[in-house]
Amino acid sequence: MIDFISTDRETTGARSDRRTARSLPFSRRSFLVKTSCFGAFYAAAKLIPLPALAAELASDSRVSQMPIVDKGFASVRKIGNGLYATISDPSRGGTTYCNGGFLVGKDSAMLLEGFATSGGAALQMETLRTVSQVPVKGALDTHYHFDHSMGNAFYGANGVPLWAHASVAERIIESYAPLQRADKAAMLGPFEKRVQDAKSDTERQHSQSDLKAITELFQVANSSLLALPNHPLDPAKLPISIDLGGLTAVLESYPGHSGTDIIVRVPDQNVVYTGDLLFSGFYPVCFDEKATISVWRDTLKKFASFDKDTLFVPGHGQICGQEGIASIREVFDDIAEQAHKMYQAGVPADEAQHRYAVPDKFKNFPIYAWGFTIGPTVAKLYVEWQAK
Ligand SMILES: [Zn+2]
Repeated sequence: MIDFISTDRETTGARSDRRTARSLPFSRRSFLVKTSCFGAFYAAAKLIPLPALAAELASDSRVSQMPIVDKGFASVRKIGNGLYATISDPSRGGTTYCNGGFLVGKDSAMLLEGFATSGGAALQMETLRTVSQVPVKGALDTHYHFDHSMGNAFYGANGVPLWAHASVAERIIESYAPLQRADKAAMLGPFEKRVQDAKSDTERQHSQSDLKAITELFQVANSSLLALPNHPLDPAKLPISIDLGGLTAVLESYPGHSGTDIIVRVPDQNVVYTGDLLFSGFYPVCFDEKATISVWRDTLKKFASFDKDTLFVPGHGQICGQEGIASIREVFDDIAEQAHKMYQAGVPADEAQHRYAVPDKFKNFPIYAWGFTIGPTVAKLYVEWQAK
């Protein structure tokens, strides 16, 4: 059973969806979908276009040079035998926002990610159907974050079992259900106050980026129907192998980003879908209460030990090889190095969070919002050092 948590709002555009859902056995409540405008959503990230495929990947025989679909905000390309990657470019729209993909065997297929909107999930399902008609075994949310799960309702409405780490349902409810009942002004108040109280221009800019991100999160949560996984994966029972017919995927759990992270490996082809444990060419999002910097860096060290020809589909950013893992590790190293100097010099944590300077080599790395990326990384590192 897929649980739908509906908002008490409804628009005319939702009626046909509701009618469809009524005929489906898994719909417990009336199926309410509010049509939404995501125009402002992706404005939080700096509008830096997604880089093209790296030269090494352009000659990788696994990776098809022509996408099978290109919508601007996302494109889907073949990256292996029965393997496809959906790569988002948030600078061109927020329908999908995160990356995903699908795996197609002789007997069945698996979809990856619920994306930021049900339109994103629909695009992926439609694209799958252009290459295969096999039954879909399930759709996996690699973790609970809204940009990977707000489109889940599409899978629910289409009878696709929704897989995720066992804690995902609870985290979605805890994190996003309250936003659907929240008073916008009351919720944004503290963030507006931080902008007003900023002690410097830098701090003001950072606080403004956070306010923008929170405003947009509020809009997305309020225009989405929350749909929860009905196929929970107990991390203690991972890894598990999934046989899709001539194609075996392995689901593994690693800590670091959200406390609910699951990756999909295809060992025969050295392809790994990492979810947000890898941000490729982006500053990593570290705000989650379960995000732990040292543990995440350990996970990345493990990824670095995977085969040298591994192809990674990150949660955000372009498809990459081991150079993508090296690059996010360098970002963490740089934040840690700058923060540690400040720590030793006695700079307080809340000040250090704003003092980090983006070096030239990372100047094209989008920063989703300062208080979701660099700020909490510095703060969490301080806590780790203080605990030593
Ligand atoms: Zn995430």
